[in-house]
Amino acid sequence: MQITTFQPPHRTLMGPGPSDVHPRVLEALGRPTIGHLDPQFVTMMDELKQLLQYAFRTSNPLTIPVSGPGSAGMETAFVNLVEPGDTVIVCINGVFGGRMKENVERCGATAVVVEDAWGHPVDVDKVELALKEHPEASVLAFVHAETSTGARSDAETLCRLAHEYGCLVIVDAVTSLAGIPVEIDAWGVDAVYSGSQKCLSCTPGLSPVSFSPRAVERIRSRTHKVQSWFLDLNLVMGYWGSADTTPKRAYHHTAPINALYGLHESLVMLAEEGLEASWARHERMHEALAAGLEAMGLEFIVEAPWRLPQLNAVRVPVGVDEATVRQRLLAEFDLEIGGGLGALAGKAWRIGLMGYAARPENVRLCLEALATALAGTEGIDATAGLPAAQALLERAAA
Ligand code: PLP
Repeated sequence: MQITTFQPPHRTLMGPGPSDVHPRVLEALGRPTIGHLDPQFVTMMDELKQLLQYAFRTSNPLTIPVSGPGSAGMETAFVNLVEPGDTVIVCINGVFGGRMKENVERCGATAVVVEDAWGHPVDVDKVELALKEHPEASVLAFVHAETSTGARSDAETLCRLAHEYGCLVIVDAVTSLAGIPVEIDAWGVDAVYSGSQKCLSCTPGLSPVSFSPRAVERIRSRTHKVQSWFLDLNLVMGYWGSADTTPKRAYHHTAPINALYGLHESLVMLAEEGLEASWARHERMHEALAAGLEAMGLEFIVEAPWRLPQLNAVRVPVGVDEATVRQRLLAEFDLEIGGGLGALAGKAWRIGLMGYAARPENVRLCLEALATALAGTEGIDATAGLPAAQALLERAAA
């Protein structure tokens, strides 16, 4: 056999995720593996829960990382809170709302869809109408930060509406956590899931989740068993010792030990920086990048008030093949940006500024690389980007 050790190239990750992993996280991943019920590991698990409570701004005891990617966090929320025969209002304004609908249907429930155009936020008036028309609905579900389009939705208002109409609320915060405010307790979110690979500067494969006491009550009083054994929180709680009644740890599955060291390190870094400072950094880097992209003549897909700082979706100029540009950035600059998905396939680039990737050198690299790849394109002033961004970066540093 010719296969030898895999040595990946060093890339700069400015797509929709995974994003650049901080060197401190990479170093933490290589620390000695210990048993998953070792007292020192259990102490680290407790710290992880506290750190996640800080990141989510919650005091929910059931705040843990699910051993699986964001999609596993999504399924955890749905399989635990939705029972066969339930009605769930699902907001779809991009790819990930569509996956929520799929989850609802696989739970044997009915999804009432509130649809908005890609690139637009969820329309709160339409949601209120759906809640009025469906008094039987027990859950409202929406994506806070739609990674497929770069649009933020008004999570606070949507949570308030859900509660006014007696619904629990499931929020996808995969891309929002640590990049923009996510206020689990202040908004009254009942179930939230995120991902380690976006604004937390960590490797992919873990999904921080948090469930309110109201949600835990709903899970404990289910009439049907959760159909997924692995994601059944009644069992997972026994391992993480999350709720009040289960202080002792019992084996459920073998935790991804080293991956959890990585998440722990990334959350320690977040606490050191401070959540507000992290949000502000994402905003500053976005402002600089946006100034550069717009000075070049590129247009944002999302209206300014709803733009996510950590996910900048711009239209591909007429006559440019979007995939060729991305290939060039990768080959010549070791830089990854994302293409459009679904309705935006071939029409958009998605430029991430997530976590450790939200830093001045990345903003400069991206604008330099795009200037090279788009030189000579009609309607594009390729060299105007970098100076426009540089002015803002210098002002921010002063
Ligand atoms: N939800 C959103 C908004 C996402 O952006 C993603 C991944 O990009 C997911 C869910 C799924 O996460 P994962 O790919 O880690 O399973």
